[in-house]
Amino acid sequence: MPASAPPRSRRSVKRTMAAALTAAGLLLALSPTTAAADSTAAGRAPVSQAVDAAAALPAGTWWGVAGGRTTSNYNEYFPGYQFGCNGDQRHKGVDVGAPTGNRIHAWGRGRVVGRGYDPGGYNRWIQVYFPSVDMSLTLGHLLDGSEMRVGTTFTRSTVWAKVGTKSDGLNHAHVHFRAARGNHGAAPIGPCEDMNPFILWNALGLPS
Ligand SMILES: [Zn+2]
Repeated sequence: MPASAPPRSRRSVKRTMAAALTAAGLLLALSPTTAAADSTAAGRAPVSQAVDAAAALPAGTWWGVAGGRTTSNYNEYFPGYQFGCNGDQRHKGVDVGAPTGNRIHAWGRGRVVGRGYDPGGYNRWIQVYFPSVDMSLTLGHLLDGSEMRVGTTFTRSTVWAKVGTKSDGLNHAHVHFRAARGNHGAAPIGPCEDMNPFILWNALGLPS
């Protein structure tokens, strides 16, 4: 019957289009491009790390510090040390000694999320976050005025800051690195919240 034919035809077209759209949607959902776009920050990590892996830290750096050397190890026990976790007298970080003013280079891609001045403690410090591995790093005892500002992004080998003066009662200038999982925001990582900085170093693809 001619009168009913067009409506049936339109319904049929609509059903066909709906089926096609659903199929297209499924195909899009399954395609690598869409999957990548929908992935979480953690899912994108390999791409970000791959970009950073192309950059190297400058020669002559140690933990990214020009002319640096380790002066205190992670979890090292110092009788009387007052900055440990719950009085355990353990050094919760890695100290890298170097002459005042030497450059401290970024370990990988990220941004500065905190900055402050703690007289008698860290003195000048910054807090940085690495989205690709979801880890944070506090840098303490920096040369005041040399540090990057909050919100600044960096890539590997960008200069974060310069080594400060003698601090912590030690007779040498050094940087204190303290690492942790997650984004610790504006506040420095606490002595009971940290992890071995080498875990971060390694996660960023730096050589051991
Ligand atoms: Zn230290």
